[in-house]
Amino acid sequence: MKKISILGSTGSIGKSTLDVARKHPDKFNIVGLAANTNINLLIEQIVEFKPDIISVGSKEHAHQLANQVTYPVKIVYGEEGLNEVASYENADILMNSVIGALGIKPTIAALRARKDIAIANKETLVAAGHIVTEVAKEYGCRLIPVDSEHSAIFQCLNGENKQAIHKLILTASGGAFRDLSREEMKVLKAADALKHPNWQMGKKLTIDCATMMNKGFEVMEARWLFDIPYKQIEVLVHKESIIHSMVEFVDGSIMAQLGVPDMRVPIQYAFEHPDRLASDFPKLDFSKLRQLHFEEPDLVRFPCLGYAYEAGNKGGSLTAVLNSANEVANQLFLNDQIAFLDIERIIYETLNSHDIIASPSLDDIFAVDEWARRTAFSIASSLSNQ
Ligand code: MG
Repeated sequence: MKKISILGSTGSIGKSTLDVARKHPDKFNIVGLAANTNINLLIEQIVEFKPDIISVGSKEHAHQLANQVTYPVKIVYGEEGLNEVASYENADILMNSVIGALGIKPTIAALRARKDIAIANKETLVAAGHIVTEVAKEYGCRLIPVDSEHSAIFQCLNGENKQAIHKLILTASGGAFRDLSREEMKVLKAADALKHPNWQMGKKLTIDCATMMNKGFEVMEARWLFDIPYKQIEVLVHKESIIHSMVEFVDGSIMAQLGVPDMRVPIQYAFEHPDRLASDFPKLDFSKLRQLHFEEPDLVRFPCLGYAYEAGNKGGSLTAVLNSANEVANQLFLNDQIAFLDIERIIYETLNSHDIIASPSLDDIFAVDEWARRTAFSIASSLSNQ
């Protein structure tokens, strides 16, 4: 039995993780859950999985929960609560599926408590990849890929020698606006982006897919998870999302991992690799598929992907700025407070007003995060006054 804690249990990855646990009650025991404000769903999860420790967003939510849970359980809340669930002593592995830089502290807390982490919280690797990977090394813990692309690469690299990698090829659906012109993008609203063709996922991620910032983040995620330089990581637009990613080796051989898009596959692989668990998930039927499409990403229509490569190559604190500015712009767009093309503009201008710290400490990262959020907000308000 693997004992699992989940940060972000009411989100898309959290729910898929619980579904994996539900299908394999002999393999997985859920011992900790953390959610923010979706108390009704959290209560259903608690009743079903009976964790030992639960964290919620606020003290009020913790009180509300205490009145409704009928068995002895530890209830914690806020930032400290997240850290407590992340480092819970009886857990073997943490699924970190919180969204945003909020995930940095609990990631560090879990590593210091010597927990392996199934890491779905890509923003933590974007903002603080150099620190998180160092801490993981220091405490002898693993950061296990969960994102479908990274799980694909992880599977393709099984048994391979890292020196034999020529390049990683990350596939991208292209997001909801893949085929639109810049002119057409001007009038888009959040609701237009939220109809993603291939993957069911949370709102923040869906917007990040529409700008292709998500793929930029995934390039960084790959850089840290596989310790591969940026120049060896390529993005390929593949609208069907059937090939989840590929590895090209020095001899010209290419390994790819394919399947029907379903996050439960990479999640259970993260927990059980190199073993595989039988599943009743939808299977790929090649005779119905008939053809797959590929094209180069268009950095003119989707400049955020280019900003991500640039920030990654310059490194230091710039990737944290990229992440924070994106979190602000993404949320403002979701709130219908800015236009779609304002997202990239806010990010670009925030990046350009930053003085890079070459080797930022964790405290530097948090300070930069605050600065970048303030800066992004003020750029956004100057845009809306125009
Ligand atoms: Mg992905």
